[in-house]
Amino acid sequence: MDTLFHGVLGATLCSRTGLAGGRRGPGSDFKRRWLFSDWTLWAAFFFGIFPDLASLGIHFMMDAFAGNGVRWHGIPDFVFFLYNVTHSLLGIAVCYGLLVAWKRALWLPALAWPVHVLSDVPTHGDGRFITPILWPFSDWGFSGWSWWVHPQVFFGGWILVAVLWLLVIVLRLTRRKT
Ligand SMILES: [Zn+2]
Repeated sequence: MDTLFHGVLGATLCSRTGLAGGRRGPGSDFKRRWLFSDWTLWAAFFFGIFPDLASLGIHFMMDAFAGNGVRWHGIPDFVFFLYNVTHSLLGIAVCYGLLVAWKRALWLPALAWPVHVLSDVPTHGDGRFITPILWPFSDWGFSGWSWWVHPQVFFGGWILVAVLWLLVIVLRLTRRKT
C-alpha cells in the first residue's frame, strides 16, 4: 500500500494510543496525554513508513536534490537491495532483533515494520515491486492485487483503518463506563 497508509496502519495497530493500548490506552490521564506524550504513536508511524523510506525514499530524495522531480524509472540497484532487505522476513528478523536488543521498549512500535510488509504482500502484484518476502533465499513472491491498479484495494485499506479507529474509540468509551 502507499507509504502514508503504512504509517497510519502502524500507528493504529502498534501504539498504545491505538489498538495495542487496549481499553487502557496510552496512560492513566487519557485526555491530557493523548497524542502528544504517547511516543509509541509516533514511533509506530515512523516504523510503518520506514521500509519505504529507507529504500525508495532514498531514491526519491536523491532525484529531488538532482532536480529530476519524482521519477519511477532510473531506480539504482542499491535501492532495490535496500528494498529487499526492508521487505523480507530475514531482513525484518535481523533488524527487529537489533532494535529490541538496543531498546526493549521498541518491541511494540517496531512491529509496525512487519505489519507494513505483511500488508504489502497482498497489495503488490507481479512486477518489480512484488514483495520479496523470501529474499535472499528465493525470488518467489505472492502475486497480489496492486493497490495502484485496483482502487477498491486502496479505498478498502483506508476504510479498514477507519473501522479500526472506531474500535479503539469503543474500547476506550466502554472502559470509562466500568
Ligand atoms: Zn513497502
